Amino acid sequence: MDKERPSSNARGYTATWQRRRREYLRENPLCRHCQNKGKLIPADLIDHIIPHKGDMNLFWDETNWQPLCTECHNRKTMNESIAKRTIINEVK
Ligand SMILES: [Zn+2]
Repeated sequence: MDKERPSSNARGYTATWQRRRREYLRENPLCRHCQNKGKLIPADLIDHIIPHKGDMNLFWDETNWQPLCTECHNRKTMNESIAKRTIINEVK
């Protein structure tokens, strides 16, 4: 179920993270984005509201966490990369 790969450990996703993640999702079991839309969907993962980009302070800052389902997380990640592209295009 909860297999850890060395590659994810290298990015800060350690055993400690797995444990905190489980606790957090037990305390916050519903996807926040879906909940905002009035839907009760179980959260699959913790999303960093501000992308941590390897910053360990942001990574472990629980005020920067939100529970999301996979679908909402993928949508958010996609929007972020679109936003980045837009900025790059504006610079050009
Ligand atoms: Zn959701």
